[in-house]
Amino acid sequence: MPDVAAEAARRRTFAIISHPDAGKTTLTEKLLLFGGAIQMAGSVKSRKTSRSATSDWMALEKERGISVTSSVMQFPYGERIVNLLDTPGHADFGEDTYRVLTAVDSALMVIDVAKGVEERTIKLMEVCRMRDTPIMTFINKLDREGRDPVELLDEVESVLGIQCAPVTWPIGMGKRLKGVVHLVSGEVHLYEPGRNFTRQDSTIFASIDDPQLEARIGADMLREVRDELELVQGASHPFDVDAYLAGKQTPVFFGSAVNNFGVQLLLDFFVRHAPAPRPRETTTRPVEPAEPKLSGFVFKIQANMDPMHRDRVAFMRVCSGRFVAGMKAFHVRSGKEVKLANALTFMASDREIAAEAWPGDVIGIHNHGTVSIGDTFTEGEAISFTGIPNFAPELFRRARLRDPLKLKQLQKGLAQLAEEGATQFFRPLMSNDLILGAVGVLQFDVAAYRLKDEYGVESAFEQVQVATARWIRCDDAKKLEEFREKNAQYLAIDGAGELVYLAPTRVNLQLAQERAPGVEFLATREQA
Ligand code: GDP
Repeated sequence: MPDVAAEAARRRTFAIISHPDAGKTTLTEKLLLFGGAIQMAGSVKSRKTSRSATSDWMALEKERGISVTSSVMQFPYGERIVNLLDTPGHADFGEDTYRVLTAVDSALMVIDVAKGVEERTIKLMEVCRMRDTPIMTFINKLDREGRDPVELLDEVESVLGIQCAPVTWPIGMGKRLKGVVHLVSGEVHLYEPGRNFTRQDSTIFASIDDPQLEARIGADMLREVRDELELVQGASHPFDVDAYLAGKQTPVFFGSAVNNFGVQLLLDFFVRHAPAPRPRETTTRPVEPAEPKLSGFVFKIQANMDPMHRDRVAFMRVCSGRFVAGMKAFHVRSGKEVKLANALTFMASDREIAAEAWPGDVIGIHNHGTVSIGDTFTEGEAISFTGIPNFAPELFRRARLRDPLKLKQLQKGLAQLAEEGATQFFRPLMSNDLILGAVGVLQFDVAAYRLKDEYGVESAFEQVQVATARWIRCDDAKKLEEFREKNAQYLAIDGAGELVYLAPTRVNLQLAQERAPGVEFLATREQA
């Protein structure tokens, strides 16, 4: 019988955060290569292309230059099992990204050496900060001319408010790139373009004082690096594992993802120091990963991942215990027992049937509309993991049907799209309108496209007088009933059956709040 504590301790579950174009996809590909998950660099990209050829939905993604779907990739590395959760890249999908970040134990931040800290990195960092997620940093594209490394670290420290502890340091940059020095081991790894492509096998010197090194990189460069290292070691912080785990310090690596340079040094350090699954808060008590019974929460729902199977998959992060294929689990929100048959794991090569899974792993549960984002599964205990919010949408549109006979399909389509979490769906108490809420405009286009493609419904989305939404909560049944009667014209039911106030203006919202003391207006809906 495998030991839950030992299996949990082997897991490293993380996500990559970056501004588009910094090199997330390229780095992912190289990491998978080290995990032996793919044979040849380039497979991640080519897989994308072959899929988009089979699905119009993917074609939209491609056309817009966005990646809407996100996936989970698992690979072994040494004694560890690494789970890399992909985050969608487009800004409109921030909410989705947020929820992926609730399901990881640490993050890897990729920064373009020429561009430094960019706007999207700042936003993602804010999200990580809310949970003190430990972060490692990879400064990419060292084979190009970029900014002064000392200046870049200063920028990370001042803009992102996190201490930097360089672990590798570049020797030259762009055309003059010669390698990196590992500040902890003292080793020098040479950059040999072309040699590092599939696997890192660069020449390694035990230290910067190795007499052979000068011949390889030149006396001038050696002097330059020595001076710089003296400066860096005097001015920067040494790596402090506790500060890193507390989210206060980020170890920094330099490299070039496309040349597979500096990546293995990062990965080795990552599997050694990044946190294994940690305890998670629930409504009643923290859950320890080593607990024998299974628990987990759903952080993402995705439809039609595979055009051959028009299914919906709920992604569950395992928080404790052991998942075994076919086991029964307790779906806390509905109070029902469900059989988790045919759950999926996400080996990087392809989806596979999961025989078992451990804390830190993600499994895909086939879902026929009963599972929502934020739902908890256990082996019977009625607890719910907290901190996986649904944000109040900022934009609203009324769905208009071209063919009135297709109302049923439209309702079904909207409800299913809402389950995935990128859009929200509201049915006002007093009208037959179908209102869609989103945090970004692009989501309406995506919704219209998918309604046509997947449900055969031609629809359009038109302006509607709604400024914002608030979830209503009130423990006093009488008060709630009174509120419902008075405000019926502004009230709606969301996809999960919760009562929501759709305010036509901010002023209206404020007045409604003032007139209903004792009624809570929540800007996020968390599963309770
Ligand atoms: P993403 O948008 O963050 O996923 O970025 P990609 O991985 O798609 O990379 C964006 C572009 O930068 C692509 O054209 C890559 O080939 C290129 N790129 C990635 N890493 C490097 C690198 O180390 N050096 C150079 N010169 N280009 C790179």
